[in-house]
Amino acid sequence: MRKLKLAPSVFGADLGNLREQLKILEENDVELLHVDVMDGHFVEKMAFGPDHIKMLKNMTSIPLDVHLMIEKPERKLDAIIDAGADIITIHQESTTRLYSCIEKIKSRGRKAGVVLSPATSEDTLKYVLDKIDMILLMTINPGEDGPGFHPELVEKMRNVHRFIGDRPIDLEVDGGIDNTNIQVCREAGVNVFVSGGYVFKGDIAEKIRSLRENA
Ligand code: ZN
Repeated sequence: MRKLKLAPSVFGADLGNLREQLKILEENDVELLHVDVMDGHFVEKMAFGPDHIKMLKNMTSIPLDVHLMIEKPERKLDAIIDAGADIITIHQESTTRLYSCIEKIKSRGRKAGVVLSPATSEDTLKYVLDKIDMILLMTINPGEDGPGFHPELVEKMRNVHRFIGDRPIDLEVDGGIDNTNIQVCREAGVNVFVSGGYVFKGDIAEKIRSLRENA
């Protein structure tokens, strides 16, 4: 089984205490920091542009896992890469130029991934599997809060895990992940877990321990 990685989402952090909270993540050996970039078009919310990514890069040594929820991501890739993103994931639904986006990211020495919204079929991954480093499956609609984790997507996780085979691709899930559903995802082959609200509400170190224990 591929190595477990936790990717707390900075969107769930208390921005007033960000430095302190990042320190706790570092002390607890969190593998990735998930950064949601939202443009107000692809999703209704707006969050975290290149300037914020640059700020985060200066504040922490945790690699930045940047999830682009923006229309036409090809227009912003250079700025996101220049800002210090280590992994960049792009929604299958957000561009007609997925190949050139992946090539751009890879040519600049960063890791590239593809994200599928809950209703997008895993079959759409077929022709990118040999080009990418990560697949991110949304377990809720991107940019939406409710109604939480959709358990019927576990079958999709299993299918994607099977597609990946022994390729060096991380399989990540995002949306409503907590200590009650992490195990079922892990058993379906997922190894990277985004968690926002769950990790940052309450005792962060304890939440991280609980995720690792339950995975
Ligand atoms: Zn995300």
